[in-house]
Amino acid sequence: MDIKKVMPNINKHIDKSKPYISPSENAHKGLNVPQIVFDYGSIKTKVKSLPNLYKYMFGSFKEMKKTYKELYKQPRNPSKNIASKDLEGLKALAIELGASDIGFTDVDLSYIFDDKLIIYPNAIVLAMEMAPNIIETAPSKNAEKEIFRTYYELCVMVNRIKDFLNDRGYNAEAGPSLGGEVNYPLLAQKSGIGVIGKHGMLITPKLGPSLRLAVVYTDIANLPIENDNKHLWINDFCETCNQCVKKCPGGAIYKDTIIFEDGSKQCIDYKKCAVPFSKQHGCTVCIKECIFFKSNYDKIEKAFAKK
Ligand code: SF4
Ligand code: SF4
Repeated sequence: MDIKKVMPNINKHIDKSKPYISPSENAHKGLNVPQIVFDYGSIKTKVKSLPNLYKYMFGSFKEMKKTYKELYKQPRNPSKNIASKDLEGLKALAIELGASDIGFTDVDLSYIFDDKLIIYPNAIVLAMEMAPNIIETAPSKNAEKEIFRTYYELCVMVNRIKDFLNDRGYNAEAGPSLGGEVNYPLLAQKSGIGVIGKHGMLITPKLGPSLRLAVVYTDIANLPIENDNKHLWINDFCETCNQCVKKCPGGAIYKDTIIFEDGSKQCIDYKKCAVPFSKQHGCTVCIKECIFFKSNYDKIEKAFAKK
């Protein structure tokens, strides 16, 4: 069964007579989690968990449908320069809606999945915390529900931020947290808010790895884009740590991360991950066992610097 056919998909809504942005030739395949679960995991167990997740899963699909339906609902004479009061308003709204970290960057074309398209070149990256006291219980029904709560609330958030920007005269495209068009952890890393750990999840000082991501694309040209990333030391730290590699119940996390020419990484063998992921409530052991989940970013940095 091709799960992609039943998922909301941006490409069905792209008007090819208007400008759009394609992935570069060296772009990678997107991860289709439901498809991987269907092909390599246990769809039966996943179906059983549906009543626990129903509200958030179908809420997310509803928001995604709105996202794609309103792709070309944009202001008539859009401005490409955001006023500082609007930028501050955008940040305040994101925080009000539950964002903990906000980053700004331009989209590297190799980060767009090889079968997807977008319409605007810059990105506002939004990270939402998954409550640590719940993630600590993983693998559990509650932890799985918490993951889907963040997916849902991020889907709502990006639609609200799109509307906020449109209402003030800027073009914006919501990038949902589920089934997105671009590799979000890479975009977030490029925006400087964190670094991708050995388990493939973004790690930030505020949230550690206990987060989910979504994006709003725009053609606003004066976003405060950050070209520096202060957290790259995490890459060296991961080489000395490997806790997630040891604790992963599926043996799915590569000790030697595969690094591609464009700098993007493959951290996980998803076929191996699919079994615990589908049979044990979304697993999430790699987040719970990460040193940045258990301890404080500054403390880890200081101790590592002394070595
Ligand atoms: S979700 Fe579980 S199986 Fe998958 S990589 Fe993380 S720890 Fe391993
Ligand atoms: S557990 Fe250790 S190796 Fe794995 S991502 Fe966290 S810090 Fe890096």
